[in-house]
Amino acid sequence: MVENLGDKVDTRQSLLNIGTLGHIDHGKTSLTRAITNVWTDRHSESIKRNMTIKLGYADAIIYKCQKCKAPEAYNTKDVCKNCGGKAEPLMRISMIDAPGHETLMATAISGASIIDGILFVIAANEPCPMQQTKEHLMIINLLGIKNAVIVQSKVDVVGKEAAIKHYNQIRQFIKGSVIENAPIIPVMTTREINIDGVLEKIATMEKPKRDVTSDPLMYVVRSFDVNKPGIDAEKLTGGVVGGAIVKGRFKLGDKIEIRPGIKAQGKGSKKETYTPIVTTVIAMSNGVDPMDEATPGGLIGLSTELDPAFAKADGLVGNVVGHMGKLPESVSTLTITYHKLNRTDIQEPGMKENEPLILGVGTATAIGFIKRIKRDTIELELKRPIALLKGTKMPVMRNIGQRWKLTGYGTA
Ligand code: ZN
Repeated sequence: MVENLGDKVDTRQSLLNIGTLGHIDHGKTSLTRAITNVWTDRHSESIKRNMTIKLGYADAIIYKCQKCKAPEAYNTKDVCKNCGGKAEPLMRISMIDAPGHETLMATAISGASIIDGILFVIAANEPCPMQQTKEHLMIINLLGIKNAVIVQSKVDVVGKEAAIKHYNQIRQFIKGSVIENAPIIPVMTTREINIDGVLEKIATMEKPKRDVTSDPLMYVVRSFDVNKPGIDAEKLTGGVVGGAIVKGRFKLGDKIEIRPGIKAQGKGSKKETYTPIVTTVIAMSNGVDPMDEATPGGLIGLSTELDPAFAKADGLVGNVVGHMGKLPESVSTLTITYHKLNRTDIQEPGMKENEPLILGVGTATAIGFIKRIKRDTIELELKRPIALLKGTKMPVMRNIGQRWKLTGYGTA
């Protein structure tokens, strides 16, 4: 435990949440591993029957050698790889990944409030832009994400000339977009060449202005039971909820509320009803170090006095956590303003009444049926309630040709 930090940098709280975008097989996961030494590709099943989006989180601490020049001075270890001297910790960062093309785009939209910057991975061994690369740039433009580093991956697979030609294709491709001035860093992930250059660009990204004074709100990304099976009842530890703090500050001892909460056991009603949970924060951490307060940045685990049965196996994913009595009410009907994306790869029929839509709301994925539709205003009846923060951007997915496709986003 870090008790006395002195003049050292506090690396317990992540300073930046970095999302990764890029065409399938362009090397997002191996880049994340080169930076964090962790594979994030552990959630193969993204949208399951209960429709939860599984986010992959992996943290790294960026160190910098004071003696060496950039970019060689940047590293994710406390020893300088250039001179062998001691490197000082600069900051903790969290890499966020989502599996699959549709969920990745949906996550980028619903996670816009927690993603501070992106790594946009474009592989040199295919012409630029590929279809998904095009769509990801569309999302970047839509969300106005200016904090971006373009990672030109797999340059070791092609020759120098081809890499330069491809680099120019990228420059041409991003011209006129919100990231037209973003740095392009050619990397060889397998040999860890130029990863330091990517780290330098991340470390020097503009730091987001965090809202740490308003009522806190956290999206639940994971939840679990830390007790071993067969443990004595009096030794039971309460459930743990892990999530991304959108705003505000949580402290030890806080009385918190989790919404929409637990499914009520009532029978006879077609609609599912939920009861909010109230509990107390008894410990918190970034997954490694204990903390006594937490603000936006990274994945924060809150240990609670909650019955662990509710928290086990990600049972609370999709909920929001806040101070008692300070959360938005859960709603079962919703009116959104719909913004259609201009996807060229899908043939889209017009929307009809009773059509089911999937909405991503924070980490919740809600199924709604269209009750009424008038131009871009859609009234939905939700299968189960959601606690919704005003102004949230929600990805909207339609079932087209037996697949759920991201067709636009809604605001409520
Ligand atoms: Zn050095």
